[in-house]
Amino acid sequence: MTTPPQTIAVLGGGIGGQVVATRLKERLQGRARVVIVERAPSYTFSPSLLWLMVGKRQPEAITRDYSRLLRRDVEVLHATVTGIDTEQSTIHMDASTLRYDYLVIALGAEHDPSLLPGAAEYAHHPYDLAAAGRLRDALAGFSGGRIVVSIASLPYRCPAAPYETAMLIDGYLRERGVREASTIDMYTPEPLPMPVAGPHAGYSVAAELAARSITFHARSAPTSVERQAITINGEAVPYDLAVVIPPHRPPAVIAATGLTGASGWVAVDRASLRTRAGNVYAIGDVTGIPLENGMMLPKAGVFAHGEAEVAAENIARRIEGDLREAEFDGHGTCFVEVGGGKGALARGDFFASPSPQVAFQRPGRTWHLGKVAFEQYWLRRWV
Ligand SMILES: Cc1cc2nc3c(=O)[nH]c(=O)nc-3n(C[C@H](O)[C@H](O)[C@H](O)COP(=O)(O)OP(=O)(O)OC[C@H]3O[C@@H](n4cnc5c(N)ncnc54)[C@H](O)[C@@H]3O)c2cc1C
Repeated sequence: MTTPPQTIAVLGGGIGGQVVATRLKERLQGRARVVIVERAPSYTFSPSLLWLMVGKRQPEAITRDYSRLLRRDVEVLHATVTGIDTEQSTIHMDASTLRYDYLVIALGAEHDPSLLPGAAEYAHHPYDLAAAGRLRDALAGFSGGRIVVSIASLPYRCPAAPYETAMLIDGYLRERGVREASTIDMYTPEPLPMPVAGPHAGYSVAAELAARSITFHARSAPTSVERQAITINGEAVPYDLAVVIPPHRPPAVIAATGLTGASGWVAVDRASLRTRAGNVYAIGDVTGIPLENGMMLPKAGVFAHGEAEVAAENIARRIEGDLREAEFDGHGTCFVEVGGGKGALARGDFFASPSPQVAFQRPGRTWHLGKVAFEQYWLRRWV
């Protein structure tokens, strides 16, 4: 007797969603119907937004139409997920529902400048295509003055991205000959850059900031943004151009699923990526995975990708009746752009005990070219 194809719903067509859907289809072919539910009409490769910000990419070079996934026989349903009923194995969308046999939640993390008073009105950020374009225009018209880069709160996507933002802006102002007429200050609530990656990586990034005369202010959280100043630790910090990495929060729809942990993010078994609902997996930024040192696994594409591979393998094995489970091991690699056509590399084991073991390779041209090659590979291979 042949079993009917299983329906696997993948919520979110970002980095995790694309990888898990593609892998499931490659692995199971006609034995599964794989449906991505995604609200955005097209996909933008987030790491490249930082290059767009400094005029090194055009939107069309880093954006892809979802119809490309159809070539792999992955269905894409353009809709907003409004409810996830794990009892009935049903997804609710604006105007329809979808029943699933297996579900992968890959809805990412939402950023919302309006959660910090004044940030939406007065500050820029490079965290989505429209905002990165506005920041690019503001930087292109900047002829010198005070630039403040501030991280609103934790967690945020990509531990390196705010620091890359500051250093890429530095490089861009140098190219334009206006760096001498400018100051750049970087504020973060963190004790040092990328603390989850450990002191070696943190002090290495701090040294790169110092080498570029970017003044680093640790343990400094903004409470509001006004027209000409950001209030940070109770003091007014004046600026001519403010870049505020916006607050992030879990997608609203997951709160009512019963799948979240104390952090408000989806709780998973960190090895198998299973949630507490047996046929539901969660991957990427939507998850909250505690580490041995009490911090959370960073919200980064490299982990969304690695987790997607494991979740796809585990669902495929279950459909095939194989009870062994593949395990995500917490390893990750991240290119860190430092401007001037150079990049560094952070690589390590984030599940190591008692704290992540992360090596930091000093900046050079090689790692920048590595990041460019990775971007090209990603956009060709996955979407
Ligand atoms: C500027 C910037 C630079 C970055 N650089 C790097 C880097 O160099 N390296 C790295 O590893 N990571 C980097 N990241 C982080 C990386 O982009 C994310 O960690 C990664 O995209 C997470 O993948 P995901 O699949 O969990 O979520 P996402 O890729 O965010 O995908 C989530 C998807 O779900 C969709 N969605 C959300 N809610 C709904 C809903 N209710 N209904 C339907 N669809 C919905 C969204 O539209 C989105 O497409 C960067 C991020 C930014 C913003």
